[in-house]
Amino acid sequence: MLETYFSAAKMLGHLRSGPSGPYLDGFAAALERQGYGPETAVRYLRAAAHIGHFVAEQGAGPTDVDLAAFGEHVRTCRCPRAKGGRRNHHTIYGARFFRRHLVELGLCQSAAVGAAPAEPQLVADFKTWLRKHRGASDATVRLYARDAAGLMMELRSDPADRCRARQHLP
Ligand SMILES: [Zn+2]
Repeated sequence: MLETYFSAAKMLGHLRSGPSGPYLDGFAAALERQGYGPETAVRYLRAAAHIGHFVAEQGAGPTDVDLAAFGEHVRTCRCPRAKGGRRNHHTIYGARFFRRHLVELGLCQSAAVGAAPAEPQLVADFKTWLRKHRGASDATVRLYARDAAGLMMELRSDPADRCRARQHLP
């Protein structure tokens, strides 16, 4: 399954031999089933491998994933193999999705930290707006909401504050 997304033998070897290795083929299949395109799937799979290495350094396994700790880690990540997966909302999203996948397999507990976070109010409003004013389909709304939520995570603080700051408004 991983071969669908990665062709380089070295990369495949790296992914399969890592702590998340045993779960990656199943994760790739889940991503495909849920309609993720190859570009996103590759990023999420890299994120899954990344989090495996991160928890291994702490003497734990991928099923002990602590997403909050990983979120902190990627902000200052110096992992040699995490190229392209640093400080990127795809990394956090991929990690979260990977954990949810493990929860679905019954491999890790659906602890509070692993549960899908409540949708930010701003994203909920955005979805309503898309439906009402743009006549967007459910699939489009889902896609846009995902990007919006990812963007918010990237900004971390209140996006409205950032906008004001950028425009030099009071
Ligand atoms: Zn790292």
